[in-house]
Amino acid sequence: MIQLPQKHASTGTSIFAIMSGLAQQHGAINLSQGFPDFQIDEQLSTFLEEGVRLGFNQYAPMPGLPMLRQAIADDFKRRYAVDIDADNEITISPGATYGIYTAFTAILQPGDEAIVFEPAYDSYIPNIEMNGARAVPIPLTAPDFTVDWNRVKAAITPRTKAIILNTPHNPTGTIWSKADWDTLAEIVRDTDIAILSDEVYEQLVYDGATHYSVLQHPELRQRSFAIYSFGKAHNNTGWKMGYCIAPPTFTQAYRRLHQFTSFSVNTPAQYAIAKHISSGTASPVRAIMEAKRNHFLSLLKNTPFTIHKPAQGSYFQLATYESISDKGDLEFAQWLTKEHGVATIPVSAFYHNRHDDKIIRFCFAKKEETLEKAIEQLSRL
Ligand code: PMP
Ligand code: GLN
Repeated sequence: MIQLPQKHASTGTSIFAIMSGLAQQHGAINLSQGFPDFQIDEQLSTFLEEGVRLGFNQYAPMPGLPMLRQAIADDFKRRYAVDIDADNEITISPGATYGIYTAFTAILQPGDEAIVFEPAYDSYIPNIEMNGARAVPIPLTAPDFTVDWNRVKAAITPRTKAIILNTPHNPTGTIWSKADWDTLAEIVRDTDIAILSDEVYEQLVYDGATHYSVLQHPELRQRSFAIYSFGKAHNNTGWKMGYCIAPPTFTQAYRRLHQFTSFSVNTPAQYAIAKHISSGTASPVRAIMEAKRNHFLSLLKNTPFTIHKPAQGSYFQLATYESISDKGDLEFAQWLTKEHGVATIPVSAFYHNRHDDKIIRFCFAKKEETLEKAIEQLSRL
């Protein structure tokens, strides 16, 4: 038997595969893995068909179709008042997961350290370790999941080469304030630490809040890879399309890797998204998702779950279940799927040591009828 090297020894099976698999096996309503269960905008489907018919069927240029990169630059100018050089700062990627891995690979060498805030999206630590580097997890401070900046300062060593952050945050739904960004800037000033800013939920912020992007912070922007996913902005997670925005030297390093791992990304999908973004008539994803969050929160009142804080952003709502069970969160989530037909994500999966505060995550990016059916089942608890 050939023994392959264990470059990914700590990576078990992703919790998203486990819980979606369990949901399917038991015919449960799937509020676990984060994906919408409703149709995409009709005009986006039409643009995809149009792209195929017009002949956008061969390899796109390595960094992405110029029309899509320009559409993104124009969109960011409009929404964030930032200037982005579409030729030298934007690279289209097959999804944000790929973007994060590629950015880490551009930054890290064996022996380096990368700071990760936990709970953390489950690909971060495996990606760091695949590059031979060491993840340094720092817990966010419950109940509001804020960053303890003194802990960050204390964790920095001469080996620290990256800090990854995620706002709006999966799974807690919190968003960073301008003060967080300024503190981060102070801490990394005069270091060679690069920032990886996972902003895949940038469009999904609620209650009149605004997303502050790393691209709006002139000092931090110079040392940052900003990562985005079209899936979250256009309800088409299965297209696996995203992009990376970074200063020219970072973009060059990113593209050196990208050209030999993917080279280019699905051409008709790039055409369709470019047309969709530029149309000015794309459906308002933020308003749609905020209405879903509000509806789900009011429905949850009919269940014994406790909500400590409404999600400020993302498409996830955390809940605790102390009046239902004292099981650990993984066991509880499995039980809920099998016995009550609703799948969720146990938040311990977002900690390297499976730290368990008995919290589960619901995805509310679902049709009203899906949410209502799920609550009907949960109200019998
Ligand atoms: N980052 C976060 C925080 C996510 O929740 C996700 C998953 N949706 C991703 C990255 C990956 O996005 P994609 O599906 O585009 O790979
Ligand atoms: N980002 C999605 C979530 O957090 C899932 C993505 C995946 O399945 N890898 O649920």
